[in-house]
Amino acid sequence: MENLIYAPKNGFDRLNETDRAELESYCRRYMDFMDAAKTERESVTETIRIAEQHGFREFQAGMALQPGDRVYANNRGKSIIFAVIGREPLSRGCHITAAHADSPRLDIKPNPLCEDSELAFLKTHYYGGIKKYQWTTIPLALHGVITTQDGAVHTVTIGEDESDPIFCVTDLLIHLAADQMKKTLADGVTGENLRVLMGTQPIEGEGSDRVKKNILSLLHEKYGIVEEDLLSAELTMVPAGKCREVGLDRSMISAYGHDDRVCVYAEFEPLLDLETPAYTAVCVLADKEEIGSVGVSGMQSQFFENFMADLCDIQDVKLRHCLAASTCLSADVSNAYDPLYAETCDKQNNSRLNYGISLCKYTGSRGKGGASDASSELFNKIRTIFNRAGVLWQIAELGKVDQGGGGTVAAYMANRNIDTLDAGVPVLSMHAPMELVSKLDAYMTMKAMRAFYLAK
Ligand code: MN
Ligand code: MN
Repeated sequence: MENLIYAPKNGFDRLNETDRAELESYCRRYMDFMDAAKTERESVTETIRIAEQHGFREFQAGMALQPGDRVYANNRGKSIIFAVIGREPLSRGCHITAAHADSPRLDIKPNPLCEDSELAFLKTHYYGGIKKYQWTTIPLALHGVITTQDGAVHTVTIGEDESDPIFCVTDLLIHLAADQMKKTLADGVTGENLRVLMGTQPIEGEGSDRVKKNILSLLHEKYGIVEEDLLSAELTMVPAGKCREVGLDRSMISAYGHDDRVCVYAEFEPLLDLETPAYTAVCVLADKEEIGSVGVSGMQSQFFENFMADLCDIQDVKLRHCLAASTCLSADVSNAYDPLYAETCDKQNNSRLNYGISLCKYTGSRGKGGASDASSELFNKIRTIFNRAGVLWQIAELGKVDQGGGGTVAAYMANRNIDTLDAGVPVLSMHAPMELVSKLDAYMTMKAMRAFYLAK
């Protein structure tokens, strides 16, 4: 019997001609998106810009909506929901995809600017799970917003343009690192030492903190702000620079924040030219996943229910009936198998580069703690959709049983009585300042999301 044994081949041995042609152009568009959207705010701005060119309009409660209509609901500029209205009533449920647009980074502390030994620094408090030592001596860019009391919102991006300066966190020279090198990787660089060097030149005149004053005067020149305005700002340091192709065969892409914008773009792009689907397609770009999906813009926020309830009201459908009939793909990355760290994984159950979108029945850690464990029925429904559409897929489990683990937004969707399965792109060096994905997997994940939207 031909299929008796499950023995998938490398994706490159299974790609058809259409896939081969579309893969490169899709990845080019994904890379452009990544260069424009390095934070959740920038992801919202950029997706709205693109969506409006494709007929999406801002959702208003009570507006008349017909099958094929396209709307979005912007949650405070930090998370967003897109929807394309289907032919079936909402009582038959929606096909929902949910990814997160936030990534680990160095957030700037509320009172950040300090001077020590005539060097000016911005203090940081890291956001999400990072290996702190990875964030020293790499080029950093400042992103975010500064709001002023006149109501103005100043968008900050410094370090991305070739002519911009960049920033960085210093590290101790190896010659004097005898003590540091004996520490564990966790302790070698402390959180408080992730201080970003901002400048060294004192302002003219007498007095103390002249380097800090010079930095403040430059900020005032550029944005018209004073130090107190920094206290209410929302600023972050992210790795500077653009996406690049990786490998002599150019089969991979490096970027900051593939987790989870590689899934954000994969679930967003197919909506743009989606023909009227059978079921209403809903695409959520959530914030705050990296710190527990909490807060007003996280996946646990009531914003999602409120939007869905407003949609349901238009068709006189009860929200709970819509959610109960809905299906969700929690689109988040998995860890690609890395032979350098083979001892951390069960290879037979780990996702691998170039085997397509990974389906993860459960996440969690140590006895599936915190997991949304998808049912056999749901997993089967999704794999059937993918197989029929020619989507290459594989399974994923996050590491060996006792090794660790992680979570996604899946549990928060499932808690709402929505059938939910994790599905996403395998990543090498996840949560590092530079992450890697394969072009084939990124493309297959987009193809999977499209097939899911179009499923009958
Ligand atoms: Mn993630
Ligand atoms: Mn993550």
